[in-house]
Amino acid sequence: MKRILITGGAGFLGSFLCEKLLSEGNDVICVDNFYTGQKANIAHLMSNPYFEIIRHDVCFPLYVEVDEIYNLACPASPIHYQFDPVQTTKTSVHGGINMLGLAKRVKAKILQASTSEVYGDPLVHPQVESYWGNVNPTGLRSCYDEGKRCAETLFFDYHRQHKLRIKVARIFNTYGPRMHLRDGRVVSNFIVQALRDEDITVYGEGNQTRSFCYVDDLIDGFIRLMNTPDDITGPVNLGNPSEFTILELAQKVIALTGSRSKIVNKPLPPDDPVQRQPDITLAKSKLNWQPKVPLEEGLKKTIEYFRQVI
Ligand code: NAD
Ligand code: UDP
Repeated sequence: MKRILITGGAGFLGSFLCEKLLSEGNDVICVDNFYTGQKANIAHLMSNPYFEIIRHDVCFPLYVEVDEIYNLACPASPIHYQFDPVQTTKTSVHGGINMLGLAKRVKAKILQASTSEVYGDPLVHPQVESYWGNVNPTGLRSCYDEGKRCAETLFFDYHRQHKLRIKVARIFNTYGPRMHLRDGRVVSNFIVQALRDEDITVYGEGNQTRSFCYVDDLIDGFIRLMNTPDDITGPVNLGNPSEFTILELAQKVIALTGSRSKIVNKPLPPDDPVQRQPDITLAKSKLNWQPKVPLEEGLKKTIEYFRQVI
């Protein structure tokens, strides 16, 4: 039985990861300060004697004994990470240092939940891991993008300097049940608006693209990456290469919900990336992984969840 620490374990992705690792017979410690996470996401796990929750901010040191660490703590939605941008950078950087320090002390393997945002508004399409990105260092999204970039730097320096076993996953837009009702990201926004017959808020003309991965696929990729031999550090892109415009997504959500909602255009947020699509050649070859759930199927499951929540 492995002892596994998941920071941000009460969040959207973290809660699915806790569930999956418990079901595989591991001892799971979930650390979360509930900034964007919710107890409801993990309430069903609390009766399991191999599951523990610690309310803790990763910006402060943590002393536990574990074999593996999945470092997911960080608000992921633009409205949440821009609400307190200094705290966002601290979470990635101070939190990263604390978790790396912990991994060093207990000789644990550690995986970082990095992001496609490290590519910024990409000039290379689709994005390959070798692309260094096009990131604004002083804009509204920088607290998140640069925080995550600095965290990657720290991971690789701990690997080179202290021989830490690291894994870096660059996650592209992932969606599914348990996203917060007011998460603010596009999939949950559109579904909630459609189910309430409210206007669907497309920012800009909706020609910008994203590639949406269903949560189950992503979690499978995480665990495969953690279990790779030590010489595989990443960064590895994890995401679904099927690319859609935001307008196409809005139309799909309206069709699947049978909503009476109308599409309205709102101003495009600053530095909003124009296009985003992962090149997953590396994940396919090193992890033998590729997403299985097509957008419509994942949307149906997510719509079902939000119908119940609403
Ligand atoms: P989320 O907001 O649902 O989860 C983040 C979790 O981290 C929450 O439970 C929150 O309370 C917790 N947290 C935040 N700051 C903390 C702190 N200082 N100390 C302890 N806990 C803290 O978001 P998510 O979508 O589940 O994202 C999880 C991770 O994956 C994040 O690191 C995010 O950057 C990364 N990621 C997600 C996506 C995606 O599309 N879902 C894409 C790229 C990267
Ligand atoms: N978006 C939108 N309407 C919304 C929320 C988001 O049109 O109600 C757009 C946003 O401008 C971006 C895309 O959808 O172009 C994805 O946004 P999200 O916040 O989900 O994630 P991002 O990939 O930008 O971090």
